[in-house]
Amino acid sequence: MCGIIAYVGSKPAAPLLVEGLKRLEYRGYDSAGMAIVTDQGTRILKAVGRVSVLEDQANSAGDVVGRLGIAHTRWATHGGPTQVNAHPHTGTTADGHTVSVVHNGIIENHSTLRKYLAEKGHKFVSETDTEVLSALIAQLYHGDLEAAVQSALREIKGAYAIAVTCDREPHTLVCARKGSPLIIGIADQAYIVASDASAIVSHTTQVITLDDYQVAKLCAGPNDSNTAAGGPWSVDFKTTTIDNVPVPLEIQELELDLEQIELGSYPHYMLKEIMEQPEAIRDCLRGRIDMREARVVLGGLSARTRELVRAKRFVLTAQGTAYHAGLIGEYLIEDLARVPARCEYASEFRYRNPIIEDGTIITAISQSGETADTLAALREAKERGALALGAVNAVGSSIARETDAGVYLRVGPEIGVASTKAFVGQVAVLTLLALYIGRRKHLPELAVREYLAELDRLPAHIQRVLEQSDHINQCVQQYIDRNNWLFLGRGYNYPVALEGALKLKEISYIHAEGMPAAEMKHGPIALIDDGMPVVFIATKGSQYEKVLSNIAEARARGGRIIAVATEGDDTIHSHADSVFFVPAVPEPLQPLLTSIPLQLVAYHAAVLRGHDVDKPRNLAKSVTVE
Ligand code: GLU
Repeated sequence: MCGIIAYVGSKPAAPLLVEGLKRLEYRGYDSAGMAIVTDQGTRILKAVGRVSVLEDQANSAGDVVGRLGIAHTRWATHGGPTQVNAHPHTGTTADGHTVSVVHNGIIENHSTLRKYLAEKGHKFVSETDTEVLSALIAQLYHGDLEAAVQSALREIKGAYAIAVTCDREPHTLVCARKGSPLIIGIADQAYIVASDASAIVSHTTQVITLDDYQVAKLCAGPNDSNTAAGGPWSVDFKTTTIDNVPVPLEIQELELDLEQIELGSYPHYMLKEIMEQPEAIRDCLRGRIDMREARVVLGGLSARTRELVRAKRFVLTAQGTAYHAGLIGEYLIEDLARVPARCEYASEFRYRNPIIEDGTIITAISQSGETADTLAALREAKERGALALGAVNAVGSSIARETDAGVYLRVGPEIGVASTKAFVGQVAVLTLLALYIGRRKHLPELAVREYLAELDRLPAHIQRVLEQSDHINQCVQQYIDRNNWLFLGRGYNYPVALEGALKLKEISYIHAEGMPAAEMKHGPIALIDDGMPVVFIATKGSQYEKVLSNIAEARARGGRIIAVATEGDDTIHSHADSVFFVPAVPEPLQPLLTSIPLQLVAYHAAVLRGHDVDKPRNLAKSVTVE
């Protein structure tokens, strides 16, 4: 959720932290703050709103110097987005030093600890759960920050990624994680810790990924007192568990390049990511389609092929947009692989004592691979004996590491809070999975060959849809004052309708509902009044005629019809007020195209309404709390 960045090394920390925060701002942006530590003490700056406000504060203060610092962009869970609730939070040690903490996650036993620490004399200033942690570390500090952090974490229930300093040790940074991601970059005479690789990649590609319950102590200091300002500095790190058992961790090479996370000439990451979908999907499919043999090649599944082919049931689990991808997966797996499949909200599945029969495959879908509920649902199903698959984008993420087999989306980093290319990547991967199994069971070679040929053409197809962006913008302008929209589809395009409505809600704050087109007349039709925009996915397929009837029903009640239709369908203009076309593809592949005009509808609506598309109200990327 929130962004953490921390630095210890030979350079001034503040500018580096601000740069990192800007890269992380998409993860949370209701307030930001930093602590800079020197042997003179700790300097804390906090600001409500965007990182640029904090940056101005640091620049105008002029004296925020120091080569050790921690910083944070917050996505509030406990306490409103105010200056006092912004991180870092602090505690005072018995010998009068300041402990500072930035935290991503939730401390579940914060109220008990708060009472205990208040009795011990800590004067709480914020409403956050995080302040409990900073006070506890300070309380347990006896001259060794690493030991104090370890002891404190043994008392903590909940999820955390933290970076901690104490000004009695002005060359030491301690960090730890449980449930929330944290990566340590090893740079030139420095360590950079971040909740997300995007804040590290401009400095180094050498990283260590912490696992749950692991703590890292990172030290950087001048070799002798004369070299304090320029180096050479010596650096040193050690990793342990919270029980102080040493854990040797390997240094890995980060596979991410800076260009992928730069905005370039686009006004928003969301638009950039929508527009780069042809390339992203090309990357996703690369090497996975073997036209000669009419086969899908998925290296990450090959060791588990037997179990996949014999699977009795698929449970797909996810949240948000990934849940909609999972619903499409449900159709794909039942239709193409002929295995019963259900998609479940991870947050519901995990708490309802799920029945996992022999031969069940749990498939966790998540862009970040860190979605807290999805990870927990995966663990629950694994514990009950399911084979665990993952469809995630972030390489090396928690879900990727905890699954038995998986398929990476390979669509590149997604920065836009409203997921677009990752959604299409998830649907593409689920399509490949269904074909992978189907081909090994009953699907005739010819049919698979046809699907694969269309998948191969997908980047070009997507490009054709994207070319209608201006037309979509003009259409949206006509309805921009309307505060209620409906999105309707059938079969494979029913989850697309749900996703279209969610996108519009997320970034335009326009109320929208998605549902099966046939469901409309069982109630929601009452909502349709004169001029209400009703989006129908009305592509050619087995239910086309039925969708046309639903269009007529909506139109008869004053609805203004926006149709997503198949290229070459000349009659659709007589049914709809506006039409966006997608190339003709077999029904199972339609969501890969029909979802794209709806991304553009949401994007243009948000821009027309003057919203900050990449920083939608109350939302943040990668939900790592439950
Ligand atoms: N629970 C903490 C808070 O509300 C951290 C939230 C976050 O991850 O930004 O301040």
